[in-house]
Amino acid sequence: SIRAPPTKKTTTLTVAVKCRPLTERDYGRDIVRVHNHQEVVVLDPDLSKDYLDRIQNRTKERRYTFDHAFGPNSTNLDVYRRTHSTISGVVQGLNATIFAYGSTGSGKTYTMVGTPNDPGLMVLSLNTIFDLIEKDNSSDKFEVTCSYLEVYNEFIYDLLEKSSGHLELREDPELGIIVAGLRSIKVNSADRILELLNLGNSRRKTESTEVNGTSSRSHAVLEISVTRKQQRKYSNQVIRGKLALVDLAGSERASETNSVGQKFRDGANINRSLLALANCINALGKQRKKGLAYVPYRNSKLTRILKDGLSGNSQTIMIATVSPADSQYHHTVNTLKYADRAK
Ligand code: ADP
Ligand code: MG
Repeated sequence: SIRAPPTKKTTTLTVAVKCRPLTERDYGRDIVRVHNHQEVVVLDPDLSKDYLDRIQNRTKERRYTFDHAFGPNSTNLDVYRRTHSTISGVVQGLNATIFAYGSTGSGKTYTMVGTPNDPGLMVLSLNTIFDLIEKDNSSDKFEVTCSYLEVYNEFIYDLLEKSSGHLELREDPELGIIVAGLRSIKVNSADRILELLNLGNSRRKTESTEVNGTSSRSHAVLEISVTRKQQRKYSNQVIRGKLALVDLAGSERASETNSVGQKFRDGANINRSLLALANCINALGKQRKKGLAYVPYRNSKLTRILKDGLSGNSQTIMIATVSPADSQYHHTVNTLKYADRAK
């Protein structure tokens, strides 16, 4: 039997903002476009009330407060340290979803996948899970599996398979919503995972090459599933926790066509899954605050896939990624507004 551990019944949402450093590419772009670049994002943990009152009337200056804020000198490890407790819950049978939201070039993939020198949350999470399993001093048996998929134009593709057609969602009476035929690999250490992720990323339909602004419309979802088989005298319970790590499509289309305060609407060239996720996050926020609200999971492939990790007692972490460059001012404001509203 599979049983969820007894915990609180509501979802929690943590909102973090991460501002990447300026890169050479920003300088190049800005020399062409606006002559001299400027950093337009300031992170300050100590802004006093007086100061905040004084700058109130500067028309282009906006202030937001989040659960966590990471500046250009932060590493992925810094982000990881703040999200560690959510990640480790998976070994206890809890579900969690961590997603990176932001416009193209703002650092989503860097945050989730990372580099060999600064591995991202996908790699760090797996490391943690294996560490915890190693340190576990019960006689429980663990199994860790991973799948890596892409949602592109409302079609699902397996990023762990060389070339596959698109896959369908099925409702399994026991497992809930599953992606039929999705490859799930058993992993015993985090060692090879960066390699696998990079291989998977190279298969993404539009891997974000920041050079062309048209960019990434695909969502990549790494799902890590931890099954714990308890070997107790009188019970052989099986507990399963799932962690979904999501590198979302660029948010620029969603934010260009929608103003804050309005419900996100579908449109011909707007990413359906991204909008559906935005609407689910909003509804979950209302649910937490007012205890009501219907959450429209069924409106897109992505939200159906993520449902377990967004509902029940799941913990959700949204990492809003922004660029400090003035050329990205509007994207940055839109991302911050969105993240602010999600809380
Ligand atoms: P996105 O996935 O949101 O489109 P990327 O993660 O590809 O954006 O980041 C855009 C560019 O910025 C890449 O060249 C990436 O290497 C660089 N970058 C992002 N975050 C950092 C960081 N924290 N430190 C150094 N470079 C970064
Ligand atoms: Mg990317």
